[in-house]
Amino acid sequence: MPSLLEQLLLARTGPMTSELVQHPGDFGLGKVPSRLAPAGTAKAICGFCSTGCSLQIHLNAAGEAINLTPDPDYPVNLGMACPKGWEALTPLAAPDRATSPLLRDSKGGLRPVDWPRALAEFSGRFKSVQALHGPGAVAVLSTGQIVVEEMALLGALAKFGMGIADIDSNTRQCMATSHVAYKQSYGFDAPPFTYADFEESDVLVFVGANPCIAHPIMWQRVMRNRRNPAIIVVDPRRTETAMAATLHLPARPKTDLTLLYGLARELIKRGAVDPTFIAEHTTGFAEFASFVDTFTPEHVARETGLSMADILHTAELIARPGARVSYWWTMGVNQSHQATRTAQALINLSLMAGQIGQPGTGANSITGQCNAMGSRLFGNATSLIGGYDYANAAHREHVGQILGIDPSLIPQQASRAYDRILDAVDAGEIRALWIIATNTAHSWINSGKFAQLRDKLDFLVVQDMYATTETARQADLVLPAAGWGEKDGVFINSERRLGVARKVARAPGQALSDFAIFKLVAEAWGCSPMFARWSSPAAAFGVLKDLSRGQPCDFSGIRDYDHIEASGGIQWPFSEEMAERLKAEKLKEAGSALQSFSPSAFFESRLFADGKFFTSDHRAKFLFDPPVPLPEPVDAAYPFLLNTGRGSSAQWHTGSRTDKSAVLRKLAPNLPWIELNPSDAAPLGAVTGDRMLIRSRRGSTTALAVVTPIVQPGQVFMPMHFAEVNVLTFPAYDPHSRQPAYKACAVAVSLAPNL
Ligand code: SF4
Repeated sequence: MPSLLEQLLLARTGPMTSELVQHPGDFGLGKVPSRLAPAGTAKAICGFCSTGCSLQIHLNAAGEAINLTPDPDYPVNLGMACPKGWEALTPLAAPDRATSPLLRDSKGGLRPVDWPRALAEFSGRFKSVQALHGPGAVAVLSTGQIVVEEMALLGALAKFGMGIADIDSNTRQCMATSHVAYKQSYGFDAPPFTYADFEESDVLVFVGANPCIAHPIMWQRVMRNRRNPAIIVVDPRRTETAMAATLHLPARPKTDLTLLYGLARELIKRGAVDPTFIAEHTTGFAEFASFVDTFTPEHVARETGLSMADILHTAELIARPGARVSYWWTMGVNQSHQATRTAQALINLSLMAGQIGQPGTGANSITGQCNAMGSRLFGNATSLIGGYDYANAAHREHVGQILGIDPSLIPQQASRAYDRILDAVDAGEIRALWIIATNTAHSWINSGKFAQLRDKLDFLVVQDMYATTETARQADLVLPAAGWGEKDGVFINSERRLGVARKVARAPGQALSDFAIFKLVAEAWGCSPMFARWSSPAAAFGVLKDLSRGQPCDFSGIRDYDHIEASGGIQWPFSEEMAERLKAEKLKEAGSALQSFSPSAFFESRLFADGKFFTSDHRAKFLFDPPVPLPEPVDAAYPFLLNTGRGSSAQWHTGSRTDKSAVLRKLAPNLPWIELNPSDAAPLGAVTGDRMLIRSRRGSTTALAVVTPIVQPGQVFMPMHFAEVNVLTFPAYDPHSRQPAYKACAVAVSLAPNL
């Protein structure tokens, strides 16, 4: 019988199917018939952002991808895709793909080794660190970019199989705030909306969100709104979305919390609240109403820099009788020093008006990465796998039973957050890191600090598609991973819709799917029997269904991947009972002619239509705190406030994939730039195209000037896609979510000296 590794590698030259086939215990990979029809079309959910667009992948006679078009029948994107989606196949063919494991040798270079050697080094070095310094001396930093079966297997393997206490992911950088805000307010991390709400609102309020370029297909859904909506954008920058809005509120950076409390006060004063909903379905309103009473329009205008007229006009629009109001937020809220309370200020506005669970309503977080929602549910970091609580003994027992493991292997507390893991590296408590599909050296706040921490690590493993990322270049061991399109699994999008990503291309060289690598690690570590049921991504999906059963995110009514695909994706909850009920309804309609059943492709689900939340008393909570000043305000030495964010719809995060596409590189500047207001540029003698020197208390860098009134005087903006930017950022964190506050720090700007 060939070993698991031999079977996996053998399968690479076999038919186009998963390395781990979809029958538990069956590793006879060479005998499995091709799942994909040659010269046909497969469908895959895009692997960049959380919109979750479906792409039709066109295949050659060997069943391999040759090009793609957006799926016209999918309820999310309705035949549209942004530039990243159109170019999704290109990064797979990049010449710098990691094609074999690489191990740092005695001369300091990374040299190719085979998988048995790589796995022996992996388990040998991590185990020796644990033996010397304790099990807690190894930690994992993962991602919201891999499929949910992989992140769940990783979470279970690390925590229950390898005894690693600390596992976090780059979801901490984008969506930790939404996770915590919903969990505290609703009792579960449960974004309530469906994308149809973009089309069904009379008033859409975007706070710290620029969907025109960050989520372009969601913006297209706004453009389909036929209700002549008011579109209000709260953002210090006049972004593309602000330009398209009916009202732009350029509040001073991080005064949005004050503005939202002021709006709450105005709604109360105008009687634009729903006393019945508040009384029957919420707690804490009286305290909240008393708290916001000091946020008078005069006070709000003073703090935010907005005019009283704009503040009162906004309140009027929101308070209009019968208007459907929806609130939408993303990184401008999530990446701030009072992020959770700001998200909850939006939730409070929606609750007090009873504007939730109905078309066109809700306080709705727009997610970042393609599977950040999967990571929030199954990453095994902040919540116990499946959205359970580590501290709850009954939950540990239940999860242990489902996974077939001793519940005593499940820790009683959540992992430390990303920043605290890095603090523990700094303190010498954590001595080895396993980083998967994320580029910490580029993307982490105050990145210069991470560079210093590298020397404190005895062993750094990076598992990635590319050996060339800023982080992979610093690794002791690189494990070559398959990317999107080279493996199977499920993503969960912003509106809780599960969609399937399919394998349509072979990973190069010796690269393997993350799922296969985790299985190999389990075998090398000696804990593979614990994961016998996780024999393939499809089998793992069965485990996840079992974990979800009875939870708010219950999707146990989904049969399999084909069921999801035939349904145009399926939003959770979709329990067995819901599936049966829908089936009975369909049967009644169709009579005995009904042969098979899927939910309609345009099946939409909203949460909380019945006013029942997931807290123990089924009531949502009003949560609030007083606004506090910026962690690093400007001063005479550093007089500009730096904001960071997405540069264009062609760029994705650290550019490790989008930079591989010549098409995408043509759609955005290839060099870092800094946006300056004309009134600030003039005294500096700067014009567009000048090289500027930007300094903060952490470091300095240069960028090309773009002189534009998009940014307000005293503020500057830099896109996050260039590694230089996080050299500048200030390491402040939201106290509840521990999400880094990338959006505001003090910098000095001048013309760069000629070299
Ligand atoms: Fe992919 Fe997001 Fe673009 Fe859709 S909007 S094609 S999911 S990157």
